[in-house]
Amino acid sequence: MYDLVIIGGGPGGLSAGLYAGRARLNTLIIEKGSIGGQIGITDSIENYPGSLVGEHESGKTLTERMRKQAEHFGCDFVFEDVVEVDLKSQPKKITLGNGDVVEGKSVIIATGASPRKLNVPGEKEFSGKGVSYCATCDANFFEDFEVFVVGGGNSAVEEAIYLKKFARKVTIVVRRDVLRCDAVVKEEADNTEGLEFMYNTSIKEIHGDPLVNKLILVDNKTGEESEYLADEDDGLMGVFVFVGTDPQSEIFKGQVEMTDNGNIITDELMRTNIPLVYAIGDVRDTPLRQVVTAASDGSIAAVTIEKEIKTLK
Ligand code: NAP
Repeated sequence: MYDLVIIGGGPGGLSAGLYAGRARLNTLIIEKGSIGGQIGITDSIENYPGSLVGEHESGKTLTERMRKQAEHFGCDFVFEDVVEVDLKSQPKKITLGNGDVVEGKSVIIATGASPRKLNVPGEKEFSGKGVSYCATCDANFFEDFEVFVVGGGNSAVEEAIYLKKFARKVTIVVRRDVLRCDAVVKEEADNTEGLEFMYNTSIKEIHGDPLVNKLILVDNKTGEESEYLADEDDGLMGVFVFVGTDPQSEIFKGQVEMTDNGNIITDELMRTNIPLVYAIGDVRDTPLRQVVTAASDGSIAAVTIEKEIKTLK
């Protein structure tokens, strides 16, 4: 029986683990993939206070240090999928993919978010055959080829800058005529040779044989469609999709209160509608999704739990 079970090993979960460990709560972090969550596959972190700017701080190096810190203060880790939860019982029951059931007096949901899809014909079919959602995983496949990046937020523009280190040409396809990324990110993009923006444009269809070699584009102002073919010598091109994220909250539906988008509603102490169940980071209904806000949420939740767990008989 754990005092606290944290579902998710991203910056939020690791920060909660650190604070809970230091409060001497017997704590388990459950992670289904690898430590770090979404930030674990990000090439460069420049806006987390204290990150090693100029020395190339990646999401992996930053979250690896967070993991060691949580472990140092006594956090246990298990690497398994969570397939079912019973949050209303006391203790709370969490069933893992291997059939084990973990019990905890309190639970923090720190499951984060996953990449949103474009939902256009060809996207699913060519996923892994030219369509990708992870630049650090797949950029090297496009060394000297042409790449399209879809989206206009921090992820799209930052990942496009990273992709340009590999690809011959990178075009960012933005559906409106405005970006959502930070000004400093836009400046860097403007200063990157071979990186271009294509505004008011959407990708309508993705084609290939057997790898992506043709896009059907739409001008969102005029409605006009056009065909974009891969360079004849290349015979293929890449399409990287960064159009936002969806919360990973499916298994908690019907138990904790959520917004229509599936973001878990909490108060300022990260408490959900169920006693001793908390939500932090990107899965939460929050105005800002950053490493620093996830880490901050984690500390608030752990300190709240330290006090509230004492109310249990
Ligand atoms: P985001 O900020 O929500 O931006 C999504 C972008 O994709 C917008 O430009 C949006 O266009 C576009 N889009 C959405 N659906 C689309 C579709 N179906 N087709 C084409 N374009 C579509 O998402 P994000 O960049 O993934 O970032 C998620 C969160 O993480 C944000 O809070 C972001 O600030 C944060 N983040 C921060 C950093 C950093 O601080 N360095 C890095 C990465 C992410 P519209 O504007 O028209 O809706």
